[in-house]
Amino acid sequence: MVETAPPATAAPNLWEVALAQFDAAADRLNLDENIRVVLRAPKRELIVNFPVRMDKGDIRVFTGYRVQHSVARGPAKGGIRYAPSVDLNEVRALAMWMTWKTALLGLPYGGAKGGVVCEPKALSPGELERLTRRYATEIAIIIGPERDIPAPDMGTGPREMAWIMDTLSQHVGYAMPAVVTGKPLAIGGSEGRAEATSRGVVVVAAAAARHLGFDLAGARVVVQGFGNVGSGVVKLMSQAGARVIAVSDVGGGAYDPAGLDYEKLRRYVQVTGTVAGFAERVSNAELLELPCDILVPAATQNQITATNAPRVRARLIVEGANGPLTPEADAILNDRGVLVVPDILANAGGVTVSYFEWVQDLQEFFWEEAEVNSRLERLMTRAFDTTLALATRERVSLRLAASMLAISRVAESFLVRGLYP
Ligand code: NAD
Repeated sequence: MVETAPPATAAPNLWEVALAQFDAAADRLNLDENIRVVLRAPKRELIVNFPVRMDKGDIRVFTGYRVQHSVARGPAKGGIRYAPSVDLNEVRALAMWMTWKTALLGLPYGGAKGGVVCEPKALSPGELERLTRRYATEIAIIIGPERDIPAPDMGTGPREMAWIMDTLSQHVGYAMPAVVTGKPLAIGGSEGRAEATSRGVVVVAAAAARHLGFDLAGARVVVQGFGNVGSGVVKLMSQAGARVIAVSDVGGGAYDPAGLDYEKLRRYVQVTGTVAGFAERVSNAELLELPCDILVPAATQNQITATNAPRVRARLIVEGANGPLTPEADAILNDRGVLVVPDILANAGGVTVSYFEWVQDLQEFFWEEAEVNSRLERLMTRAFDTTLALATRERVSLRLAASMLAISRVAESFLVRGLYP
C-alpha cells in the first residue's frame, strides 16, 4: 500500500482538550459558574522524583505523578501509565475523564490517574519492579482502599499491580488486596478483569451498530493497538462473528480483507513481539483510513486529527483509547455523520470491573466470571442507552451527552454535600 502522511502534526495538549469538552457540556447544562470553577480544578496533584537502582549499579531519578481530580462521589479511581510522553497535563486530563467515566457508569468513585515518565520496554524486569515499588511507596501517602485505588493503563498490567499490592501490604504488615485493581487472580483479582475494557467496548459497539441498523456479525472491524484493550477487542469481536480485517501496534499493522484469525495472530505476536508482518503490511496512518464498518482506536491519544478525519471511512468509531480523536477530528466526523462512541463511555468496562474487583476484595467473597460479565454488560448497556436517549432528545453528539450526564451527577454530589467550611 502507498504511504500517507502520519496523522499527528502538533499534538494538542490533552488537558486543554479535557477542559474544552467540560466547558462545552457545562455551557449546554447552564452549569452555575461557582460549580464550574470547582469541577475544572483537579483536587490533588502529587509529583514525585524518586531514585531507582539500575542493573548496572548506577542510580537514575524518575518522575511520577498521581492526580486526583475529584473525590466528591467516593474514593478516587484510575490507572497508572508508564510511557515516555507522560506529563502533568496528560495525567490531569486522564484523571478528569476518570471522574466523568465513573459518574457516567454510576460507580461510587471519583477520578484519578497516575504515571511515570519512562520507556518500560527499555527497562529490565528487575528495574521495572524496583521502579514500581518505589513509585508505589512515593504515592502511598495519598492512595489506599478508601482513598484512591490505582489500576493498569498503558505500559502496566497485572504484574505491576501485584508489585504495588505487595509493597503497600508490606508497609502495613497484612495483605491489602483492595488497594489496587487489575491484580492477578491469585491475590484477589477478579474473574473477567483482564478483558473487561475490551468486553465493554464490544458491548457498546454492538449497541451502537444496532442503532445504526447493522449487526456485529459480519461487520468489518479495524483495531488500532494490540495491548490490554486492542487484543481483547480483536478476540471478542471475532467471537461475536465480526470480521477483523486490520490491526496494528507501535511496530505497524497487518491487513487482510478476508479477516484475521485471532488465535494465529496471538501466537505470531508471542513469537515476534508485533502484529506487523502477520498479513499485508499497513502503516498506522493507512490503517485508520481503511474502509470498514467499525473503527476501534485502542492505542493512544491524538490519532485521528483534522488531517486524516476527512479520509476515515468507518461508519462507527468506538474509542477504546482515551482521547484518540482531537476536537477538530471529532467535529469533522460529526459533520460527516460518523457515529462516535466517546472514550468515557466506550472504554468504561475496565473501571466497572475494577469496581467489582474492589467490592469482592472488601467483602472477601468472589464471583464467577459469568456473573462479572453479565453485571458488566448490564451497566454498560444502561449507560449507553441513557446517553443515546439524551443525545437524541437534545440533538447533540454522544460525547456531549455523556459529558452532560456525568458532569450533572458530579455537580449534584457537590451541591448536596455543600462547601466546607
Ligand atoms: P497497552 O500498553 O497494553 O497497549 C497499547 C497498544 O498500543 C500496544 O499494542 C502499542 O504497541 C500500541 N501503540 C502505542 N502507541 C502507539 C502508536 N503511536 N501508534 C500505534 N500503536 C501504538 O495499553 P492499553 O492498556 O491497552 O491502553 C490503550 C488505551 O486504552 C490507552 O489510551 C488507555 O488509556 C486506554 N484504556 C485502557 C484501559 C485498561 O484497562 N488497560 C482502560 C480504559 C482505557
